[in-house]
Amino acid sequence: MAAQLMDGNVVAKRIKDEVARDMEALKVKGIIPSLAAVQVGDNPESKMYVGMQKKNCEAIGLVYNLHTLPADTSETALVRYIEKLNSDRSVNGIILQMPLPQGINPRSAQKALSPAKDVEGMNPSNLGMLLYGNPKIGPCTALSVMELLRSTGENLKGREAVVVGHSEIVGKPVAILLLQWLTDSPTVTVCHIATKDLESHIRRADIIISAVGKPGLIKPEWVKEGAIIVLVGIKRLPDGTALGDVDFEPASAKASWITPVKGGVGPVTTAILLRNTVEVTKMQLGI
Ligand code: NAD
Repeated sequence: MAAQLMDGNVVAKRIKDEVARDMEALKVKGIIPSLAAVQVGDNPESKMYVGMQKKNCEAIGLVYNLHTLPADTSETALVRYIEKLNSDRSVNGIILQMPLPQGINPRSAQKALSPAKDVEGMNPSNLGMLLYGNPKIGPCTALSVMELLRSTGENLKGREAVVVGHSEIVGKPVAILLLQWLTDSPTVTVCHIATKDLESHIRRADIIISAVGKPGLIKPEWVKEGAIIVLVGIKRLPDGTALGDVDFEPASAKASWITPVKGGVGPVTTAILLRNTVEVTKMQLGI
């Protein structure tokens, strides 16, 4: 059986169309949402994301401003800069580009963000709302995983979901979001670097969400017939090839649904960043 694709480009287009409708309604009121991206130093990876964010924001008419701070910026100076953006009424959303240079604790920066402008949902207050279920502003990649799962139309109730990776930005929020349906949630297991027998967990998984970034970590022969697989973890090779944590071709021969390595989670994550920016703008205006 060849798996059906959870097509990230299709899901992203649906979200962007909704965002465009919201943007039109705001424009009528004379409001154009704006996103401030804060980058410290010039990490090549975050440079790539910045370029993509700018292109996507401008394509739907969002104002995107990049604030680049020198690589030797101290934690205190970054916090002060964020506080300045918090009180700037022309800024609706703020995104912090990761990684931050060593010496700056990302948590200090995330805590400094106004929860009302935190478009990645990483401020402790927004992360707390995640525990309450159905957050309006949540971590973009985790919400993207949920949108992709929802696009299958499959009922996940009581099924075995295995999340591989337990970072604050992906694995942990995905696990919490999978539990948001109270009586309709799957049973969730979170595997991580210290998990002793990954194979045994994967073998019983109806839903696999892999967010590690180590190609070959999950062997295709462990995948259960009919499993749903979301490939979050991606490693890009110098020649531009992208590899997921499980080899796509053999895994898709066994799975019922799978995300492509390119055109899966990535485009939906970007679309959710746009949605979050419009949502925070609406919330700030009480709309
Ligand atoms: P991270 O480095 O913070 O976390 C990696 C996780 O993998 C950790 O929780 C760790 O416990 C787990 N891990 C490491 N080795 C393992 C092993 N042998 N067995 C089981 N678990 C293991 O990374 P992150 O920021 O959470 O990102 C994870 C991956 O997702 C990366 O490949 C990243 O590129 C990708 N990502 C994609 C998007 C997107 O929008 N497409 C967004 C964010 C992250």
